[in-house]
Amino acid sequence: MRSASDLDVKGKRVLVRCDLNVPLDEGRITDDGRIRASLPLLQDLTSRGARVIVMAHLGRPKGRVDPALSLKPVADRLQELLPDCTVRGSHQVVGEHAEHLVDVTQPGDIGLLENVRFDLRETSKDDTERGALADELAAMADLYVDDAFGAVHRKHASVYDVAQRLEHAAGPLVMAEVGVLERLEKDPGRPYVVVLGGSKVSDKIGVIEALLPQVDQVLVGGGMCFTFLAAQGHDVGSSLLEDQLLEQCRTLLGSGKVVLPVDVVAATGFAADAEHDVVAADAIPADRMGLDIGPRSVELFAGHLREARTVFWNGPMGVFEMAPFAEGTRGVAEAVAAVRGLSVVGGGDSAAAVRALGIDESRFGHISTGGGASLEHLEGKQLPGLEVLA
Ligand code: ADP
Ligand code: MG
Repeated sequence: MRSASDLDVKGKRVLVRCDLNVPLDEGRITDDGRIRASLPLLQDLTSRGARVIVMAHLGRPKGRVDPALSLKPVADRLQELLPDCTVRGSHQVVGEHAEHLVDVTQPGDIGLLENVRFDLRETSKDDTERGALADELAAMADLYVDDAFGAVHRKHASVYDVAQRLEHAAGPLVMAEVGVLERLEKDPGRPYVVVLGGSKVSDKIGVIEALLPQVDQVLVGGGMCFTFLAAQGHDVGSSLLEDQLLEQCRTLLGSGKVVLPVDVVAATGFAADAEHDVVAADAIPADRMGLDIGPRSVELFAGHLREARTVFWNGPMGVFEMAPFAEGTRGVAEAVAAVRGLSVVGGGDSAAAVRALGIDESRFGHISTGGGASLEHLEGKQLPGLEVLA
C-alpha cells in the first residue's frame, strides 16, 4: 500500500475520502474526535500545496438530501481547526456547484463536498450505478487518497470505485490501523486475550469464531454474555438473549477459551433509576435483566488481563451510558489500559466509553476509529477499500 506522503501533490487536485461521521445534536457537533483525527493528512496535503477536495458521509440519509445531515457544521469546524487555510463547503456531491468548488480551491485550500450518501449511487449494489458516480467524482481530481478507515469494509463509490479510476494512496489513519491489525494478526505477544462485549452476539459471533484459534482467551461481557450463560443452562431472566445462537455458543464454549462473568448487575428494567443488585451469574432472578458485569467478574477479567501481552477489546461490558451500569466497563477499561504490551481498543461505542469515563486515551496502545472495519479485518475478510489501495 502506497502512503499519501509518497505522492507528489503540489498543485494537484487531491480527492480525499475522510471519516467525518461525527455525532450531532440538533446541528451541533457533540464529539469532534473524527474531525481532529483527520487533521494530520489534511495539514500534510495543504502544506505541500495540494488542492484538497474532501468527501465524507454523515449518518444514513439513504440516498436523499436531508438538511439535518449536511456536512456544513463539519466544514465550519474544520475551518476553526485549520485557521491557516480556507475551507469551503458545497451543497452538492457532484454537479455544477461541486465543480465550481473544485475550481476555486487554490493550492493549500480545502473544499468539502456535501454528504456523499445524499447520492443514491454511493451505496448502490449495482457496479454500473456506483461506477457512474465514481466517474463524476474522479473527473474532478488528479489523485485519490483514502483516510477513512471506518469505511474500508464498504464497497461504496467513494471508497472502492473511485480508487480504481485515479492514482491512489492510503492516508496515515488507514496506514496506522492496518499496521496495528497486522501486528495482532501476525505475531501477537502471548498470552493474547480478547475482550468482547456490546449488545448482540449476532454482531460478533463471526469474529469470535475466527479469533478463537488465534487467541489464548476470550473474555465475554456486555449483553452478549447472556446467550453464553444460557447456553451453559443458566436462567438469564429478562436479559438480552438470542435463542437461535445457543447451539453455536455451546460449540464456542467447548474450546475452553471463553471466560464468562461470574456475577452481574441485575436490574428491574432498562432504566438508569431501575432497582438493581449484584447477583451470581448463575442465579439471575426471572424478573431481572443483566445490564453490567459485577465486581467479581471485573476482578476475574482483570486477572487474565494482567498476564496478557496482547489485548484487543471491543464492546462495552454493560450499559455504560447509564451511570449505575458503567462500573464493569470502567474496571475492564482500566485493566486494558494497564496491560504490559500491545492494547488495542476497537469499536465506536468502546472508544466513546473510554472518553465518557474520562480514561486517558494515551494509556492504550491504539484506539481504532473503525469498529466494523477492524472486526472484519480480524475475521480475515478481504476489505474492498483496502484491496483497491494495494
Ligand atoms: P462497539 O460500538 O464498541 O462495537 P456495540 O455497538 O457492539 O459496541 O455495543 C455497544 C452497546 O452495547 C452500548 O450502547 C451498550 O449500552 C450496549 N450494552 C452493553 N451491555 C449491555 C447489556 N447487558 N444489555 C443491553 N445492552 C448492552
Ligand atoms: Mg456500536
